[in-house]
Amino acid sequence: MPSAVASAREILVRLHDVMASRTPAQAKLNAVVGIVGEAMSSEVCSIYLLRDGVLELYATRGLAEEAVHVTTLALGEGLVGTIAEQGETLNLDEAASHPDFAYRPETGEEKFHSFAGVPIIRRERSVGVLCVQHADPHRYDDVEIEALQTVAMVLSELIANADLVDASSAASLRPQSTATMRIPGLKLVEGMASGYAVYHQPRVTIEHTVAEDTEAERHRVYAAFDKMREQIERIASQAEFGVGGEHDEVLQTYKMFAYDEGWARRINEAIDSGLTAEAAIERVQQRTRARMRQIDDPLLADRMHDLEDLSNRLLRIVSGQMGTAAQGGLRQDTILIARNLGPAELLEYDRRRLKGVVLEEGSLTAHVTIVARAMGVPVLGRVKGVRRAVAEGDLLLLDVTAGNVLARPAAGMEEAFEAKLDLRQKRRAVFAALKGELPITKDGHRITVMVNAGLRDDVAALDVTGADGIGLFRTEFQFLVSATLPAKAQQQRLYREVLDAAGDRPVIFRTVDIGGDKALPYLNRADEEEENPAMGWRALRLALDRGGLMKVQARALLEAAAGRTLNVMFPMVSEPWEFDEAQALFAAQREWMHARGKRLPTEIRYGAMLEVPALAEMLDVLLPRLDFLSIGTNDLTQFLFAADRAHPKLAERYDWLSPAILRFLARVEAPVRAAGKPLAVCGEMGGRPLEAMALIGLGIERLSITPAAVGPIKAMVRSLDRAALMAHMAALLKTPPRDLRAALTAWAADNGVELA
Ligand code: PEP
Ligand code: MG
Repeated sequence: MPSAVASAREILVRLHDVMASRTPAQAKLNAVVGIVGEAMSSEVCSIYLLRDGVLELYATRGLAEEAVHVTTLALGEGLVGTIAEQGETLNLDEAASHPDFAYRPETGEEKFHSFAGVPIIRRERSVGVLCVQHADPHRYDDVEIEALQTVAMVLSELIANADLVDASSAASLRPQSTATMRIPGLKLVEGMASGYAVYHQPRVTIEHTVAEDTEAERHRVYAAFDKMREQIERIASQAEFGVGGEHDEVLQTYKMFAYDEGWARRINEAIDSGLTAEAAIERVQQRTRARMRQIDDPLLADRMHDLEDLSNRLLRIVSGQMGTAAQGGLRQDTILIARNLGPAELLEYDRRRLKGVVLEEGSLTAHVTIVARAMGVPVLGRVKGVRRAVAEGDLLLLDVTAGNVLARPAAGMEEAFEAKLDLRQKRRAVFAALKGELPITKDGHRITVMVNAGLRDDVAALDVTGADGIGLFRTEFQFLVSATLPAKAQQQRLYREVLDAAGDRPVIFRTVDIGGDKALPYLNRADEEEENPAMGWRALRLALDRGGLMKVQARALLEAAAGRTLNVMFPMVSEPWEFDEAQALFAAQREWMHARGKRLPTEIRYGAMLEVPALAEMLDVLLPRLDFLSIGTNDLTQFLFAADRAHPKLAERYDWLSPAILRFLARVEAPVRAAGKPLAVCGEMGGRPLEAMALIGLGIERLSITPAAVGPIKAMVRSLDRAALMAHMAALLKTPPRDLRAALTAWAADNGVELA
């Protein structure tokens, strides 16, 4: 029986110099087994590390020296293999009587009876085992087990920093997480992709585990707790309208944990044992995880996941590692995983490596979805429990078309996925072949199909798809990807390049639509935080108030379009006078340039977006003043239904094919047609074949859609009898059936309309 019980603190104090020294990792391991064995009065202390899928004896005090780097155990084999596989601690007074005991003669361990071993865990995977043995049959004290676990935590960082183990073959400790898993979600951006899981908010790497100054570490944790609570309060004050996507339930849990005395106390105790603030936070989290593995309750598991989130947040604050995975750079084909993302955050990723996105939240018309669509990156949203089921580095097969993501595919699944991808590419080739065909209905009506764009590279879509032009160029994308306000010259260069690439096809530039979920950090002032930014100071409202911003953009557009037609469109026009003011601002800039003899556009055509329902009541006043109108159904529907377009809980609640929306659009279409002004729809609705069919049935003849949808929409148009559809739609809207979507789907099927 050891005379005195060694605490974690005593051992860490003795380990401090070893860990801080510049000696090689192997020498450090040798020193650790010496110190731990002696401190715990154990004849034997050994470290096994996972290498090439087996546990190899790396360092020992007390076992035969010849066994080092010779003795190996498979996962699940012997006591050591069992500890690694289960991620559980064993504490035995008679090792040999345990059913899993496996005798290794070369070690000479037959003389030892008592045995205690703890897993060395890294990122929820076992990467090794630390154990002690003693000739006397006795169980180790709880304080000693705690000390062993703390040392294991220190070792985990040491071996990771020294690259001693191969994490890829490490035994995963998450339930189900080595098994193949198919997780369903909501289709946000269609497509298929395979890649390795990367978390948008990466786990913090802990560099120092043993503290120099315990008091200083304590203060760091206090300060981090304060900062974290502040952050949570701030998110909570903004979250009511789903701005950040975090919803109520989660925030309540966040708050509960952020102020949980027990959590803070446990971290403090871990600091008392001699760990740094980072290591203490991680140590407490490891203990919580170990407890959770024994409780099989999905509800509790969700809560624990929130704690995991918060613990990671605390780690990020305390270590100052605040960056996202984008800053670290992507090293291979990646499927990005996040609770939610902002459009600017998504744009920070390397487009060559980012193959897909899986969100726990997300909605169809949130700007991040639109940006992903523009980037051609498939997105699956509302994927419940993804962060519990998927570990960083897992291979994922993302099939948004089928509405799911497959984690850790079993043999054969990858081939099946590739085959499906191949088939999809062939289908796309069929659509691509429609590039030269015109979108003309069976009864001879020409529909104008344009594309939405916003990034420089998007312009290539015009040639690829054979679209009629760019019906919506979202100029704010340039502002979103920039760290500072883009200068006039930069703006002008982009607009000119876009016009050059488009040639004689029209491009409609929409003036900046910032605010809402398209926040620009360099424009927002702290005192301008809004409770409901989607209905707040955004788009034209902001642009008219910040006249300087709009003037610069007007000049950039006018200069870029010198000698050609400039089509300019204002977002979120709510009252006709706003359109007048914006137009006057452009006219004044034009005059200014004219007075100085600068080259001007040959013609300027002004348009408005109809996104705010109130404007529909003022069309008689507005229509005579403008050249064209474009309906932004993304914003329009959120305002018509009073349902935040980015709110995950409302993502599937209201249908674009509801009678209210279609009747509203019909009421707008009639006066615009009577006034002889071109009317387009440029929201996401127009890019879906059935919805686009309904729009054509209302008499709308111009669509501006995501480039990937051009082929399918052309195919639909070319299989459609417009006159028959219009008659049918009129009847349907008069006495709408309960399920308008079903009725339209049935009509399409009966009339041979191709809906991809
Ligand atoms: C819309 O609101 O429908 C629209 C096209 O504009 P955005 O999606 O950029 O807000
Ligand atoms: Mg809009």
